[in-house]
Amino acid sequence: MRYESAIDVTAIEAVDTHVHLEQDSAGRRALPQLFFDASAKYFKTDERTPSVDRIAELYRQHRMAAVVFTVDARTQMKHEPNSIDDLVEGCLRNNDVLLPFGSVDPRLGSAAIPEARRQAEDLGVRGFKFHPTVQGFDPSDEQYYPLWETLQEFGVPLVFHTGQNGMGAGTPGGAGLKLRYSNPLLLDDVAADFPGLPIIMAHPSVPWQDEAISIATHKSNVFIDLSGWSPKYFPEALVRSANNILSRKLLFGTDYPLISPNKWLNAFAALPIKDEVRPRILKDNAVELLGLGQPGAGTAARNHGASDA
Ligand SMILES: [Zn+2]
Repeated sequence: MRYESAIDVTAIEAVDTHVHLEQDSAGRRALPQLFFDASAKYFKTDERTPSVDRIAELYRQHRMAAVVFTVDARTQMKHEPNSIDDLVEGCLRNNDVLLPFGSVDPRLGSAAIPEARRQAEDLGVRGFKFHPTVQGFDPSDEQYYPLWETLQEFGVPLVFHTGQNGMGAGTPGGAGLKLRYSNPLLLDDVAADFPGLPIIMAHPSVPWQDEAISIATHKSNVFIDLSGWSPKYFPEALVRSANNILSRKLLFGTDYPLISPNKWLNAFAALPIKDEVRPRILKDNAVELLGLGQPGAGTAARNHGASDA
């Protein structure tokens, strides 16, 4: 089984670059139960673990494509996540709307490298998701550089969670999760040392929004996805940069199932974003970064590192 995209970019209106699949067909979940309870409360959400087919149905109705992933945090969480193979199979079954990203646990050390290669080359994943706080690692630590080196070969983007975090929120010690690892400045080191590696900093990076804007402005290989917060709460500086310097660097994302596409899009419609910028954020920037416009994975992403946007 290898994923091939059948997404017709002329038939879709938007690309949601940040959707979580948190349960596989065997019922295994991304994280231990305690984290689902805490984050469901934090986001006040109902349907917390929809199946991949349910996610596909929702996005098909909206005429949108979606990037789907889980997070492999097995070392820190002492918990085996939902199956990546099952996730890719579900995306292949719904490849008119879904695009799979892989995930490996960097704390597996050298064992993470063949697994990343298997996911990219055998399963055909179109990017990778990391969550430095939940996985418990500092992405700028050079012990992880061999992994970034390997991933750079594939020419696909890496999405890193940045900023504040619903997982463990409101529990003693935040369930041991360290927010510092999600400071976007740690990704500035990775982006500088791997200029051919497209990096997506997920979410308005509360409380490090200015840092994120600076990095995405400075480095052509760094992007920001706007998921995880209702656009109602976007900082003014982010909205201002969306209209000028970052109009080609920002990506629509919800963080579904935590935030629904309807809720996000309604709040986005109320923001003072220029009309010509809206389709870039909702669709065009992602189509280019994910290489959806052409055959073969990540062609556009690979070219991105070399361009000076
Ligand atoms: Zn997320």
